[in-house]
Amino acid sequence: MFTSEEGAVEMLEELGAYQIGHFVLASGRHAQGYVDAWAAYADPGSSHRLTTGLLSLALENEDESKPIDVFMGPERAAIWLCKEMSILARRNYGRKVLSMFAEKDKSRPDEKYAFVIPRRWAGMLKGKRVAIIEDVSTTGGSFAEVARLVAECQATVVMVVIIWNRGKVTAEQTGVPAIFALVNQTIDSSEADKCPDCHS
Ligand SMILES: [Zn+2]
Repeated sequence: MFTSEEGAVEMLEELGAYQIGHFVLASGRHAQGYVDAWAAYADPGSSHRLTTGLLSLALENEDESKPIDVFMGPERAAIWLCKEMSILARRNYGRKVLSMFAEKDKSRPDEKYAFVIPRRWAGMLKGKRVAIIEDVSTTGGSFAEVARLVAECQATVVMVVIIWNRGKVTAEQTGVPAIFALVNQTIDSSEADKCPDCHS
């Protein structure tokens, strides 16, 4: 089990979820590394280390008198992460924490952060304490929207737990009570014409 941010980065590298090299991002910028947890999702036998880390982070930071009832996050990362965390919570801590996710709202295809909580789960959320789970955050737009939907269901968001907070997004910026991340680091990137790898 890793105990530091460096250890978490090392683990993500081992799982293929963090690659060091030269990458052209969707924005056109050139970056010196790339984080993408999907390689880890494809290998659950190895990557339970990742969800164990997220689970520890959540439970270390919860208010013991107000325990977390639900892990919930934006699809599709949360489908995998929350289920795995829920299983580990039961197995390792004897805790029942439900696992849910918010789906993309296909009726609003033009909106970047359009999510909807499936109706069946929306009804189950009332009065529950929810930890929002996310893999990589750049702006926090996705988890902030899911947090808003959770509040609409009369549930309480108690924290946000992220694998890699790439944008160093803060609780103040996104209106959530607290954010915890395994890795809180930006990844260096630059405009294409200023890229040190392309113009050295
Ligand atoms: Zn470059």
